[in-house]
Amino acid sequence: MKAIQVKQVGGPEAMELVELPVPQPKPNEAVVKLAASGVNFIDVYNREGRYKAPLPFVLGQEGAGTVSAVGAEVKSVKVGDRVAWTSQLGAYAEYAAVPADRLVPIPQGVTEEQAAGAMLQGMTAHYLSNDTHPLKKGETTLIHAAAGGVGLLLVQMAHNIGARVIATVSTDEKAKLAREAGADEVILYTQADFEAETKRLTGGKGVDVVYDSVGKTTFEKGLNILRPRGIMVLFGGSSGAVPPFDPIVLTQKGSLFLTRPSLGNYITTREELVARSAAVFGMIAAGKLKLRIEHTYPLAEAQQAHRDLEGRKTTGKLLLIP
Ligand code: NDP
Repeated sequence: MKAIQVKQVGGPEAMELVELPVPQPKPNEAVVKLAASGVNFIDVYNREGRYKAPLPFVLGQEGAGTVSAVGAEVKSVKVGDRVAWTSQLGAYAEYAAVPADRLVPIPQGVTEEQAAGAMLQGMTAHYLSNDTHPLKKGETTLIHAAAGGVGLLLVQMAHNIGARVIATVSTDEKAKLAREAGADEVILYTQADFEAETKRLTGGKGVDVVYDSVGKTTFEKGLNILRPRGIMVLFGGSSGAVPPFDPIVLTQKGSLFLTRPSLGNYITTREELVARSAAVFGMIAAGKLKLRIEHTYPLAEAQQAHRDLEGRKTTGKLLLIP
């Protein structure tokens, strides 16, 4: 089978198209014939070595397809089932062996491409808005990189809850997409000072919650626009990592809360994983959550997909088709 392997961590060129044997399932695993693999920023971190994985490895943490073989102990899925998963390496390939208890069923009304596009970013948007900070109607939130993969989904969920959404994006085209997703206000943070703009838009009160996946270039100012006891949800570092930080700053800026969550901690049990994925798939099937699959690349063009994602060129979801 064809797969994208990393033998040495590095830039996009570290991703090699290789021929590997089709994996055989261990007793607790199922093998999935992939219909689509999701491209995510975490793949860039794995490829660069910022998040470590034992070398060599097949990249990719999100996929959907059909079960083609099961291990002896597997009861939860059978050959032919349509399934999806996330947070297990090996998705940039034609086949992947996945622990069966990490596979979730794809319901009717959701395509395999949609499932591959929604598992990681959709469940992330879901836990951020429902659990990390359970957003309430009438609250105000600032969402950075709002036209990105997670961003567009988080804006829709926040809007559907009834929160007022202030969004930041880098271009006019992205601003249009953020508005269509339900943002009430959009700030071009590459041109305007988002701190001053947010203070103006909230009459100096500040926002209840900041969702920040950009990190290095936005974190500090984000703390300045929170209301007293507001919460900073730092969930990524697309512009780079936030430097070391003294907690006394949280006191000085209004007894703020800070959390650095990760999807893995919000799908710890099988029950939570199944419930969260079902909630996201349910919204898609009901038309309440629109997935913007911006571009599909053949598997062999994984390098280009990463260049586009890192180059800030993309909006919504990127998929690789094996
Ligand atoms: P995106 O589609 O959001 O792409 C990243 C976006 O970040 C860009 O489009 C760009 O939007 C913005 N950005 C700002 N500064 C930079 C920069 N210097 N270089 C590149 N991009 C920049 O990616 P994803 O939706 O896949 O992921 C978004 C973030 O969320 C990532 O940081 C990822 O690690 C994180 N994440 C965290 C999870 C968690 O559980 N903690 C789970 C999933 C994702 P613009 O041009 O508008 O500025």
